[in-house]
Amino acid sequence: MVAAPRVRAAQKKTTANGAAKEKKGGSDLNPRTKHFEFFGPPGAFLITFALPVLVLLLHLGCSSDGCPPPLPVLTAILQSSLPTLWDPQAFLAYVAWLAWFVLLWAIAPGEWADGTLVRDGSVLKYRINAWSSFIITAAAVAGATYIYGLAPLLWITDHFTGLAAASIVYSFAQSLLLYAFSFRPGALLALGGNSGNVLYDFFIGRELNPRILSFDLKCFFELRPGLIGWLLVDIAFLARQHHLHGSLSDSAILVTLFQAYYVMDALWFEKAVLTTIDIIQDGFGYMLTFGDIAWVPFAYSLQVRYLAAHPVHLGPLYATLVLALQLLGMYIFRSANGEKNDFRTDPKSPRVAHLTYMITKTGSRLITSGWWGRARHINYLGDWLMAWAWCLPTGFATPITYFYVVYFGVLLVHRELRDHEKCSNKYGADWDKYCKLVPYRIIPYLY
Ligand code: NDP
Repeated sequence: MVAAPRVRAAQKKTTANGAAKEKKGGSDLNPRTKHFEFFGPPGAFLITFALPVLVLLLHLGCSSDGCPPPLPVLTAILQSSLPTLWDPQAFLAYVAWLAWFVLLWAIAPGEWADGTLVRDGSVLKYRINAWSSFIITAAAVAGATYIYGLAPLLWITDHFTGLAAASIVYSFAQSLLLYAFSFRPGALLALGGNSGNVLYDFFIGRELNPRILSFDLKCFFELRPGLIGWLLVDIAFLARQHHLHGSLSDSAILVTLFQAYYVMDALWFEKAVLTTIDIIQDGFGYMLTFGDIAWVPFAYSLQVRYLAAHPVHLGPLYATLVLALQLLGMYIFRSANGEKNDFRTDPKSPRVAHLTYMITKTGSRLITSGWWGRARHINYLGDWLMAWAWCLPTGFATPITYFYVVYFGVLLVHRELRDHEKCSNKYGADWDKYCKLVPYRIIPYLY
């Protein structure tokens, strides 16, 4: 475990480095962003306001009154729900949830890990204790359920609108602060978030690694409150199903277990987040804040929420088929991500020593066989197959519960394009060579 003073020393060095280079020429270290994503400022503006509305619509428009309910019913639901958006109890509970994870970040057992080399020459230290934070939280939830029964879980479902609204308000507030603080001297900006357009930079995220001493905000929000919150919401809606119908359906149990695996996988392999696009490339602004703490827990829980009101009984055959799909997705997702991690951490490890690779001019190695020889983002395929396994258990009474699989497909295709561009800029001709060796983007022989 790295002592805190060493972390602070590393940070001071980082800031000093940054400031020195800034003096030499700010534009060298923080060049202006010239290329826009998400259709530029109008797109960023639209997404900023449309996604919160969508979170609330997915909830209010897919309830026990119908999914979707007839238009007059939906209008009545929307009107009656407006006053519940501001729910002081839910707001307090939401802030307490965030504070709980900050506390756990500080005290839960864990280690410090090095991030990748930042372009100002520094290497940041990250606290790796998301898993122990999760275990402590799970024990606390289990303890509360043992003492108070299902009441605390049912409270979450009763206050869902207020909790979702609190997460949206918090996302806006934090992103505004992040944007404002990114103007302090010496801040290292994201290459994609320094366009000079307020709306766009606020959305994409202006500062690359905003920190309070050794507390890295982007890494903290990436996994803990949002992902664990998502699982808690799922479990709360399982409790709601039991409360309403007196039993649990196999479909709701399966989806909750599948999503629990996904959440726990991310927490267990927390270090892997340090090499993701989010941490290495993106600034920390509204896009990631909202995505992490509002979108993930309150939109990704749609299937279990639906099943709580409309139980679907799969039976052994359909349940086995869905399980097989989930296992296939899990296998591709985990082994592809693991293969790249193992290779990048220790290429001589017996698990990856057999892989062929090419050495780029930057010194980085790109795997050209195994999973990464089949498609350039084969890990996305595994992820997408799992997305199907989360939606199919909801049956075919409504298309709305398939929202996730459609949205996620679009996200992954877009993400692959972004990563392709990043790698193309980073590796140049080497990347073109790699693309010739591995011609498929996500699905071998298809795309
Ligand atoms: P990846 O884990 O796919 O990593 C992409 C990076 O890996 C590239 O930028 C490059 O980085 C490196 N790389 C590319 N090709 C090779 C190769 N052949 N050999 C070695 N290294 C290579 O990025 P993501 O962050 O997009 O995804 C991580 C996981 O998170 C995925 O499984 C994805 O499905 C999941 N995800 C889930 C989301 C959700 O909402 N559920 C959202 C987004 C992602 P370098 O510069 O180091 O070479």
